[in-house]
Amino acid sequence: MNDILVLGAGYTGVAAAIRTAVRTRRTGGRVRLVNASARFTERLRLHQTAAGQRLADFALEDVVAGTGIEFVQGRVAGLDVERRQARLEDGRVLGYDKLIYALGAVTDASVPGVAEHAFVYDDYAGTVRLAERLAALSSGPTSGPTSGPTSGPTSGTVVVVGGGLTGVESAAEIAEAHPRLHVVLLTRGRPGSMMGERARAHLDAALERLGVEVRTGADITKVLPEGVELAGGELVHSDATLWTTGTRGLPLAAGSGLAVDARGRIVVDSALRSVSHPDVYAVGDAAAVSQPYGVLHGTCQGGIPTGLHAADSLAATLRGRTPKGFRFGYVHQPISLGRKDAVIQFTRPDDSPRRWYLKGRAAIAYKETVSGSPLPTFGLLKRGLVPVWAFALTGGLG
Ligand SMILES: Cc1cc2nc3c(=O)[nH]c(=O)nc-3n(C[C@H](O)[C@H](O)[C@H](O)COP(=O)(O)OP(=O)(O)OC[C@H]3O[C@@H](n4cnc5c(N)ncnc54)[C@H](O)[C@@H]3O)c2cc1C
Repeated sequence: MNDILVLGAGYTGVAAAIRTAVRTRRTGGRVRLVNASARFTERLRLHQTAAGQRLADFALEDVVAGTGIEFVQGRVAGLDVERRQARLEDGRVLGYDKLIYALGAVTDASVPGVAEHAFVYDDYAGTVRLAERLAALSSGPTSGPTSGPTSGPTSGTVVVVGGGLTGVESAAEIAEAHPRLHVVLLTRGRPGSMMGERARAHLDAALERLGVEVRTGADITKVLPEGVELAGGELVHSDATLWTTGTRGLPLAAGSGLAVDARGRIVVDSALRSVSHPDVYAVGDAAAVSQPYGVLHGTCQGGIPTGLHAADSLAATLRGRTPKGFRFGYVHQPISLGRKDAVIQFTRPDDSPRRWYLKGRAAIAYKETVSGSPLPTFGLLKRGLVPVWAFALTGGLG
């Protein structure tokens, strides 16, 4: 019997586990899915959690119910890829024949002070702490007008660092939910620099309407309890700092001897197997997946197809077949701008912007469909089906 262990039950781990369970039904095997929390974290909605919205609660046991997958709650503390064992924090040891590594990524905290003084989106509990801090600041006493576009007195300043999708979504969501807070978005380049000119103009206008102060050209050298320090010594005051500039793979991967790239992500071949340990498949934010146009960046859009493909590769290998190579092309950059606006930039497969974009109501509906799609996707996968969008993005799975 094959013992298949899936580490991490985010978007990609759940997709990989369900697809593996379905694809290995005939060859026989046990699929175990390990996750630190018993709850499924909708990571791509964490900015909504930060702004204080209550989201639906999904128990992982229920998400995988009916598949035969054994769910194990526990935090993975170590990985022995030679003995093929994962060690949990509480001392349990789980052996495997094949491993799918889907533990995601953590915030790159290489700038001094990030780990100590900034809020990050590494898990649900940390995001709830940010939500509580923002709610407390928002209901506090006012403290005089600010220098930014926020007119009138405010009850505190929130600095969001990073002008990518996550930083923009967060700044907009927080500004809309907490109009008494002064929100500053600090970025090196223009916010949403990956988008086309017209979509970016819509994004700029939305941030201005929401009173977000955008400061570009910011090179942050330190995060302090009372703010962030820029190169040159200027201190930008902050009552709460959210750091969203980029992520890295968990140290666990490199520490186990798996080959990783400069950002700590597991380097995989075209079948999504570790180049150093082919019994280990890596998917989602945890993997460095190469395509002709470059290495995939961490998105759910690309992550779920990697989970599905790894499962198909693994199933093919168990049946003695040669797995197919993974192919993926992006289609969009969907960005929410609070609950009442959004902008969708359509892209070429290499993620460069096309001419088309959506804004306003059509964009809100589109973004909500995308954000809500993983759970129905898991339902389809349980029935042995693959959603049409996954075929479109990958040109057909293996
Ligand atoms: C605010 C925000 C908005 C986003 N918006 C979008 C978007 O609109 N579109 C898009 O495509 N992408 C978006 N993303 C990116 C997307 O969420 C990630 O690319 C995606 O979650 C990656 O999936 P994953 O399964 O690889 O990792 P994750 O979803 O992070 O899952 C990893 C899982 O592993 C578990 N885990 C971690 N360490 C351990 C451990 N040691 N032991 C046990 N379990 C562990 C975690 O609890 C988690 O359940 C957004 C991200 C953020 C933060």
